[in-house]
Amino acid sequence: MTNIMIHVTIEESKDTNKNYRKEVTMGRVRYDEVDKYGGQGGAGFFSLKDDGDTARIRFLYNGVDDIEAFAVHPIEGEDGRKRYVNCLREYRQPLDTCPFCRERKATQVKLFVPIYNVDEDKVQLWERGKKFVQKMVSICSRYSNSDTPLCAHEFDVERRGKKGDTSTTYEIFEVEKDNTTLEDLPDVPNPLGGLVLDKSAEDMDFFLETGYFPPDGEDEDEQPVRRRESRDRDRDEAPRRRTPGRGRDVY
Ligand SMILES: [Zn+2]
Repeated sequence: MTNIMIHVTIEESKDTNKNYRKEVTMGRVRYDEVDKYGGQGGAGFFSLKDDGDTARIRFLYNGVDDIEAFAVHPIEGEDGRKRYVNCLREYRQPLDTCPFCRERKATQVKLFVPIYNVDEDKVQLWERGKKFVQKMVSICSRYSNSDTPLCAHEFDVERRGKKGDTSTTYEIFEVEKDNTTLEDLPDVPNPLGGLVLDKSAEDMDFFLETGYFPPDGEDEDEQPVRRRESRDRDRDEAPRRRTPGRGRDVY
């Protein structure tokens, strides 16, 4: 499994100025489990198009331990669109472990933060870069604890930066808190096998030779979903969608 750790510093409190380090797990899903999640499809991306655009969201996280980062190789697919391929290598391992690393293809650290978009009543993945890990850790440490999961909070996200501006940032404001738990919200989508292609070393070598991946013949229709163990005990039906909290007006 790609279990790469990156270190981030959490500002625990402005008063004490006490920092501690946190290891964020990357690519927690084992390769031999990926087939359970199906192929393409799944959740769409969350995006705000232009300066000042806002959306109301919930993070589909209990807390900091749910933050997952992925080391990925950006590639251009056959259709010319950018795709990501999950890196096969842990950072301590030799480059040969991953054919794309062996060929010195660029690696990026990505977060695919699962969110519930309240405005659109949809689960989406918010693609963010390495810098956002620190921000996400800060949000988790500020707004979640053993009694209150992060998903109990609704936030307004506001884009600061015009369309195409590479220095765009996002302000995240808490707007309310209730008793919502992850159980009340739609299932958390797994980016692996969906947004992030998860390929074997053999398939990567094939790509390096040909410029495309061999067809895998998997059923591509299934929604990639990472089930939480506690939920599996209770049900094995297809994911149900539930509206979180009380039915409130969105605008
Ligand atoms: Zn790699």
